[in-house]
Amino acid sequence: MHPKTKNSMHPSTFDLMQEMGHEQVVFCNDKQSGLSAIIAIHNTTLGSALGGTRLWHYSSHQDAVVDALRLSRGMTYKAAISGLNLGGGKAVIIADPSMKSEALWRRYGKFVNSLNGKYITAEDVNTSARDMEYIALETKHVTGVPEYMGGSGDPSPFTAYGVFIGMKAAAKKQFGSEDLTGKKVMVQGVGHVGQYLVGHLVNAGAKVYITDIDAQKIKQTVDAHRNVEVIDAKGMWDVAFDIYAPCALGATINDDSISKMNCAVIAGAANNQLAEETIHGNKLIEKGIVYAPDFLINAGGLINVGAELDGYNRERVMNNVEKIFDRTLEIFNYAEAEKMHVQGAAIKLAEKRIADIAAIKSRL
Ligand code: NAD
Repeated sequence: MHPKTKNSMHPSTFDLMQEMGHEQVVFCNDKQSGLSAIIAIHNTTLGSALGGTRLWHYSSHQDAVVDALRLSRGMTYKAAISGLNLGGGKAVIIADPSMKSEALWRRYGKFVNSLNGKYITAEDVNTSARDMEYIALETKHVTGVPEYMGGSGDPSPFTAYGVFIGMKAAAKKQFGSEDLTGKKVMVQGVGHVGQYLVGHLVNAGAKVYITDIDAQKIKQTVDAHRNVEVIDAKGMWDVAFDIYAPCALGATINDDSISKMNCAVIAGAANNQLAEETIHGNKLIEKGIVYAPDFLINAGGLINVGAELDGYNRERVMNNVEKIFDRTLEIFNYAEAEKMHVQGAAIKLAEKRIADIAAIKSRL
């Protein structure tokens, strides 16, 4: 019998790897430090698989596997569409943030090291530059380490800036102008990225609404920017916005939310925003909503940490992040010409770059 259906209702990890085209998945376990981690390497055609480590209290191992596989695939496309010579990988640690310890990070660092640079890690949800510092004690294959250790620190400001640039491109497409003055923008999730994004939007003269499930994050944001308006997460879709910026977790664009959405543009930082790429990508077209592909406009952080590998230069990083504007517009045009939804068009262009470079690499 096929392993998919033998003992479980879920597809096996192998089935998922084959479906999404993964190269390797590494399961890491250490009882003493409490570490349970999954490192997913999607594609290394363009270079080492660089992607952050997410720490999350998954409700099942299957959820963690699926998250690692989906996120690592997104990293392959993110690096490829951004013109970086990097592959796609991502890791998840199944834990509650209260379980973080030096021992957990250093044990994890040893596992990363055992891959000899095939996977390079960085921050993600619930992980910080401080955590990377512990990992760096065990491996050199880590980025996003603090500036005082020669790294580039927290990538979130660069991610937020890229999202802001991509949002302006999407506004240009939908409203005919990139000017965000007076535009009503809903930022869902004011964590590391969301907080910086709010700053850019306030400076640009947008009317900013925020929501978060963490009261402390709301307070921090309101204290920093007095004129933002707080919306209850449950009543988010009762309000009409010009722009929705998903900056919490993935899959917030789904059947339920699309049926309630009253907005003209979606541009945010969260990875894997579309619950089902084709179904929901097409539904957004039917609703006339311009969607900026997540992995394209949230690439600022990857561009930043990736720059640590070839001698960090902040000016060059900012320059590369600003290229997100033209690239987003190009993809809107390509999607229209190819009669595809935007996420599909972005994936097609990313896959084309990987295939083109693979063909070059195979020649003498
Ligand atoms: P974060 O954990 O610092 O912030 C996420 C915020 O979302 C938190 O404040 C959390 O309370 C809030 N949140 C969670 N569920 C929510 C809900 N249902 N409704 C409203 N708020 C909710 O993470 P971050 O680093 O800011 O990243 C945000 C998203 O952007 C993630 O999906 C991440 O994968 C993605 N991303 C981050 C970076 C980066 O540089 N940090 C880069 C690329 C992509």
